[in-house]
Amino acid sequence: MNSNELAIRVEEMMREGGIDEFAIVPVDHLSGAEPGFRPQDLMPSARSVIIYAIRLFEFPRLEILNAEGKPMGMTEYTANFFIAANLLDQLAYRTAKFIDDAGFSTFPIQAGPPYDGRKLRGLISHKYVAEVAGLTQRGHSQVTISERFGPRIRLGSIITGAPLAAKMRTAPDVCHPDQCGFACAKACPAGALSEGPQPLDLNACDRFNEILISTGPLKIRCGRCLQACPVGKG
Ligand code: SF4
Ligand code: SF4
Repeated sequence: MNSNELAIRVEEMMREGGIDEFAIVPVDHLSGAEPGFRPQDLMPSARSVIIYAIRLFEFPRLEILNAEGKPMGMTEYTANFFIAANLLDQLAYRTAKFIDDAGFSTFPIQAGPPYDGRKLRGLISHKYVAEVAGLTQRGHSQVTISERFGPRIRLGSIITGAPLAAKMRTAPDVCHPDQCGFACAKACPAGALSEGPQPLDLNACDRFNEILISTGPLKIRCGRCLQACPVGKG
């Protein structure tokens, strides 16, 4: 199987498994990645990064705050946040095995934990790769936004030494705060998101998620800024 056929089969496998967005980025398009977080830092022989996304459902109950100022719907949202990551990781593992069997070094980068809990970042930036691929645009809320699903997506990636044919497109232009009235910032119950030029206080968001609304071993996710974003809603 040549690398073009391999790229086609990989996309088929992932779409059959349920992913909604798919792209392939040659590593030389990712030179803007921060040193230490480049695909080649993890795999010196890396030639391509496969980037994919699955959509999250909408959870309108997140729009309601309970008497304690916590979003209703946060438990079902968080559960689905992890279910989606789990599906991405399962698909990625199967696909990476297929590429490995074809003779190329490969491994998937997980959609969820583990990640650096102090810097709140993963091994590589899925968001950066998705934006280079043209799948998404960085939104005002600093989450990455797809034209079809808004910010309600989860991303994962596979790094491989296979020189797969690039599959990229023009990035969407969908975040227009003047039109939505900064809906994401207005929805934030933690004061972590503002309308200013440096809108996100990541630590304030994380504190709200980890300390204020989580009562068990798993970090509950708030998700109100994602739910509020009008992009990708029917
Ligand atoms: S997830 Fe919640 S706390 Fe964090 S920025 Fe969004 S709305 Fe604010
Ligand atoms: S709610 Fe509005 S400003 Fe915020 S990310 Fe979505 S489109 Fe951009």
